[in-house]
Amino acid sequence: MNTNPTIAEIHGLYKDGKQPSEIVAEFLQRIEQRNPQLNAFITVNHDALAQAEQADATIQQDLASKPLAGIPVAIKDNLCTEGLRTTCASKILGDYQPPYTATAVKKLLDAGAIILGKTNLDEFAMGSSNENSAYGPVRNPHNEAYVPGGTSGGSAAAVAAGLAPVALGSDTGGSIRQPASFCGVIGMKPTYGRVSRYGLVAHASSLDQIGPLANSAEDAARVLNVLAGRDRYDATSANVDVPNYLEDYLAALSGDVKGLRIGVPPECFGEGLHAEVKAKVEASLAQLKAQGAELVEVSLPHTKYAVAVYYLISTAEASSNLSRYDGVRYGVRAEDARTLSEMYRKTREQGFGAEVKRRIMLGTFALSSGYYDAYYEKAQRVRTMLVQDFERAFEKCDVIVTPTAPTPPFKIGEKSDDPLAMYLGDIYTVTINLTGLPAVSVPCGMSSENLPIGVQFIGKPFDEGRLLQVAQRLAE
Ligand code: GLN
Repeated sequence: MNTNPTIAEIHGLYKDGKQPSEIVAEFLQRIEQRNPQLNAFITVNHDALAQAEQADATIQQDLASKPLAGIPVAIKDNLCTEGLRTTCASKILGDYQPPYTATAVKKLLDAGAIILGKTNLDEFAMGSSNENSAYGPVRNPHNEAYVPGGTSGGSAAAVAAGLAPVALGSDTGGSIRQPASFCGVIGMKPTYGRVSRYGLVAHASSLDQIGPLANSAEDAARVLNVLAGRDRYDATSANVDVPNYLEDYLAALSGDVKGLRIGVPPECFGEGLHAEVKAKVEASLAQLKAQGAELVEVSLPHTKYAVAVYYLISTAEASSNLSRYDGVRYGVRAEDARTLSEMYRKTREQGFGAEVKRRIMLGTFALSSGYYDAYYEKAQRVRTMLVQDFERAFEKCDVIVTPTAPTPPFKIGEKSDDPLAMYLGDIYTVTINLTGLPAVSVPCGMSSENLPIGVQFIGKPFDEGRLLQVAQRLAE
């Protein structure tokens, strides 16, 4: 097996007589060898081999009916998996075993996938470097002194290192796309509502989406095919059919980019952008232009407010979502408390890490009476202006391009004492969650330190097929 086999390649091996148990055993062996350094997995699924052995008997029939037959997958550890602990990389959840499986994961299982394990993340998906994990930082497989990005850093590192062919991540402000960029893989955040959030542990409910991390646009399309669609367990999942020409996201891959209008917003190519990132993004634009795409200038004038708006809205929603961790219903409870309120206080004091506490305090403050209008409500108004920026820009173009992150990957420890510097790195990704649009990060070269750089393409609502098509053309 190659280092980074695609789904089609693994299916090819099955057609030639290899068994799912052999493939899964090989991935488990890779995890055993490399995970002690990378720390990409928090939990390895020790039933994976037994599940693969069951699949051995039916693999030849399954290849015809199940799109992910015998495909090993890695799942970010904030997606609920029945019978497999789900930690959110937080001490407060301990060895919590969810009583049900997230819809996105269940869909993969129904399509024939086998879970290899649960991947590391920043605690409750709060961070940009995977350093905020109670289970220790994840290391970038390209250079272990560097961060893999966050918060789906474990999923991105696992896919890049060949510990899993594909993985699921979640993206509230960039957590699929930025680690994809830092690890040199493809990561897609679908349109808000395209994929059910049922069973995704909530960070900020109006921003969270689940999506794939993969080594190719084709594999991302195969996984999205399975994930997309309305779910009666998530009222915010969209009742929008996958558009005709995209009925199968794979079909969208083959189209060319001739005449495609790519919007380039100068606001995203100015101050703070690392020269090497700029050069690589411009080189990918030149490549698409050579294939017949047209570059048009568009304006996103409110971009400069996006980080502030995101950190008001996301912390406000997080402070509300995280109030459920009180030592009563989930995970761990502080032992030495004498009264109920002392039990709440001590459980939260001992169970949450520093970044999560900072977010809860910021969010509670933004929502408190007397400040609500000044902060939360004002942020919601600017959010609407961001939506309007994109609506106007999309009158002139079909997709919009920006860097995924302003810099190449940074060193472990480099920004951990400076939360503001960490937050500013989210500048290009957070607007996409605030506006609900789909976006993909595609590898576009290496820095002089030989670390990956990513370019982000943003689409109109439900135009994921177009983004996958651009990603595919860029890889050629
Ligand atoms: N870096 C952003 C944050 O810290 C995004 C996190 C995410 O997408 N889950 O909130």
